[in-house]
Amino acid sequence: MVRFEQVTKRFGDTTVLDRLDFSVEQGKHVTLIGPSGSGKTTILRLLMTLLTPDEGRILVGGRPLDKEVRKGIGMVFQQFNLFPNMRVLRNVTEAPVHVLGLSKDEAVERAKGLLEMVGLGDKLDAYPTQLSGGQQQRVAIARALAMRPRVLLLDEVTSALDPELVAGVLDVLRDIARSTDITMLCVTHEMNFARDISDRVLMFDAGRVIESGPPERIFGAPEHERTREFLSAVR
Ligand code: ATP
Repeated sequence: MVRFEQVTKRFGDTTVLDRLDFSVEQGKHVTLIGPSGSGKTTILRLLMTLLTPDEGRILVGGRPLDKEVRKGIGMVFQQFNLFPNMRVLRNVTEAPVHVLGLSKDEAVERAKGLLEMVGLGDKLDAYPTQLSGGQQQRVAIARALAMRPRVLLLDEVTSALDPELVAGVLDVLRDIARSTDITMLCVTHEMNFARDISDRVLMFDAGRVIESGPPERIFGAPEHERTREFLSAVR
């Protein structure tokens, strides 16, 4: 479970998150939508402990977010961020060996299973530059899952991809959403994807949740004027 309690984050004079309160139950999939600058990425960066709240607190699995708790949180970025000098297999085994202390054999076995699952069982020895963007993003997903996270953060994971590569990445994420009990927080502009995998959609504006509910309701019958405006602009 992920819980934000009255979290405020400022950059200089700008209040980016304003006493933000929300929670996501274990195993649920929540999509954060809202206009550019509304604070969505800031929420993911707080969960990654790349930023700290100015006020309020963040709990994960009932515990205040700290370095240890952070190990249970995985992230997939817009720009993949693979290690360019390492082959695909090593990209996926590196953190389980060095952060979790798995033996090399265990890490390799785990990585091979995950790479198979994302459709890259034949690319173990490739370097990232030898792969398409969609393939690189699927390696990044396998790399995040190799840490067996309880929470997975997805930040615009398809926005750097050529349109024809988007579907393959979304299919993999849809499978993960269906077949695991990982809690997922996604920031996306892919409203169809949001509709497909989310249990709940949170609509942000100016650092606050202005509306939340199941995707059918948020997309089908938005109550808030700002939500209606936003959805008509992105669709
Ligand atoms: P987008 O959809 O464009 O990615 P977002 O909803 O994810 O937007 P954030 O990236 O969370 O928005 O940014 C919220 C606000 O905080 C923006 O006005 C941004 O300029 C500001 N901001 C974010 N990071 C910093 C920083 N490190 N220093 C100063 N301002 C920042």
